[in-house]
Amino acid sequence: MTSKNKTEEVNVLIVDDEVLIGETIKDVLEKEKYKVYLSQNAAQAIIKIKEISPDLILTDLKLPDKSGLEILKEAKKNDPDVCVIVMTAYANIETAIKALEEEVYDYITKPFDPERVKLIIKKGLERRRLTLRNKELLQYLQKEKNKLESILEVGEKMSSILNLEELVDFIIVKATEIIESQRGSLMLMDKEGEVLKIVAAKGLRDRVIKNTRVKIGDRIVGWVAKTGEPLLVLDIDKQADRHIVGYKGESDQYKSKSFLSMPLKKEKEIIGVINLTDKNNPKDTVFTMEDLRLLSIIVNQAVVSIENARLYKEIKFLSITDSLTGLFNRRYFEERLKMEINRAERYKRFLCLIMLDIDNFKKYNDTHGHLKGDVVLKKVAQILRNNSRKVDIISRYGGEEFVIVLPETNMAEAKEVAEKIRRAVKESFLEEVSFKEISISGGIASFQHKLSMDELIKRADDSLYRAKREGKNKICVDDILSP
Ligand code: GH3
Ligand code: MG
Ligand code: MG
Repeated sequence: MTSKNKTEEVNVLIVDDEVLIGETIKDVLEKEKYKVYLSQNAAQAIIKIKEISPDLILTDLKLPDKSGLEILKEAKKNDPDVCVIVMTAYANIETAIKALEEEVYDYITKPFDPERVKLIIKKGLERRRLTLRNKELLQYLQKEKNKLESILEVGEKMSSILNLEELVDFIIVKATEIIESQRGSLMLMDKEGEVLKIVAAKGLRDRVIKNTRVKIGDRIVGWVAKTGEPLLVLDIDKQADRHIVGYKGESDQYKSKSFLSMPLKKEKEIIGVINLTDKNNPKDTVFTMEDLRLLSIIVNQAVVSIENARLYKEIKFLSITDSLTGLFNRRYFEERLKMEINRAERYKRFLCLIMLDIDNFKKYNDTHGHLKGDVVLKKVAQILRNNSRKVDIISRYGGEEFVIVLPETNMAEAKEVAEKIRRAVKESFLEEVSFKEISISGGIASFQHKLSMDELIKRADDSLYRAKREGKNKICVDDILSP
């Protein structure tokens, strides 16, 4: 849009081949402080229009080269809101009236009264000013509408993301997009409610993301988390508040001195802080109350979604975990074993299964009590964790039975792992008299072509049974190879 600022001067172009008429109007209008240009034919006028983008054109209908209406066309191409007034001899008034249908604002018949011309021009310019103002307003409202619509959309999408990592990334991408800022970070409070860490960011260096830790009350972000108040800073260098003065250096890494910092509040509890800085538009570097308002809508939705995602994570964790030992439970074990068998079958990879069982555990419970028995189970679980790789899937299979799925592992390697565990159990439990008798037995089976999950488990179980028969505190391997 070629709209002009109100304070800028008003350009008027007069097109008439009769020099005297042009000059007379020019004099009148210049007294009104308009900037007036004269052209004597259409060709000249069209060049002038492109050069000065007039606010108003006063043109004779009949020109030596073309009709005034041709000028109208060119002028509208240059600026659709230009105000065009035509002058005509009384004899041609019909053409002038017709011209009104073609977006001409008004007409003046010659000879004319300069005061009337002045008035019509004033009214025309006023209308143009209103049209431009309305357009600006409309554009602003359209932009606001788009923002609110995208906030609604973002809210809907947010609530559908259950993966916390994916969710926080989405929040920071959308917040920076809607508030039009180049940098942003989302920080979440640790479990103890003491330290904020960055969980998602845009425009920040990896090192900053990884190393930033802010204690509640410390620095600007810590102040926001402590008070629960959002902070809109226009220019950090001019801010006198105590909590900001001490941290001016923090802004040095940013291009602008304005930023927004808002707490993520779940009722009264602060669960995190979101920070935005460096507006996209280099001319418009300062955040506004409007930005603050929009961000608070996004943040309210974000808090609900983050809580949902956390709950989901927790439920998912609980549904696959054994509560006593913290190992995976049997259901999850079976699900994963099925997947690993498929993979081993398809890609012809090694896969082993170790089944372990605490020896004489019934007697142990009877002697030392169930609670003490639970301590043993937890200790064994820890030994299993300490002696296996990250890729191994360790689960509690039943009461005092454990299973370990070992992907990419052959029988010899699996046997080494199982022996290491057996020894570790024996050694770790030496420290206390009541633990002395604790030992573990194990059976190992390796996956063979076309073996089903149940068959694989049975082979491991059979081997375990053999270890028990052969005196316990022992590992036996399945040596039946499939046909
Ligand atoms: P074996 O050497 O042949 O394995 O004999 P065992 O006594 O260990 O085996 P059995 O299957 O007869 O007994 C298993 C015992 O494990 C029975 C039960 O008291 C105990 N047990 C199972 N689940 C738990 C548990 O969650 N906590 C405690 N403390 N004991 C458990
Ligand atoms: Mg047992
Ligand atoms: Mg048992």
